[in-house]
Amino acid sequence: MTKFLVDRMLGQTTKWLRFMGIDAKYAPKGDDEKLLEIAEEEDRVLITRDKELANNDRVMLVEKAPPEEIIPKILKIYDTELKPLTRCSNCNTLVEKIEKQEIIGKVPEGVLERNDEFWICDGCGKVYWKGTHWENILKKIDKMKEKF
Ligand SMILES: [Zn+2]
Repeated sequence: MTKFLVDRMLGQTTKWLRFMGIDAKYAPKGDDEKLLEIAEEEDRVLITRDKELANNDRVMLVEKAPPEEIIPKILKIYDTELKPLTRCSNCNTLVEKIEKQEIIGKVPEGVLERNDEFWICDGCGKVYWKGTHWENILKKIDKMKEKF
């Protein structure tokens, strides 16, 4: 599976790749050389709008566009596996299932009442569940899938 390093200008794209379960690291501040170095070291494809980086086989150049347009282009080219709800959209860490009683106090009571399955991120502590927000995410992912 291809892993990605995503340019700081493409925050929304990073988030949506993570929603899909794809390993997408947000590029740290640094010059082009540093980014290429990280991509090389961690075996990632650098997704960027920086045309100066175009002539490198580790780089995918994208236009300024919303994630709905950028992501299908990425997934057309690279080998990926879509596993929604496996990765934290905040920090890219894989999430783990957690027992309901362990998150009491961490999510609103209404959410606890309406849901039985929860996931937590070890990296930043964010708790996930399949609420209406999640259904909307899945719908959007399905729409993107139609394009590749
Ligand atoms: Zn996290």
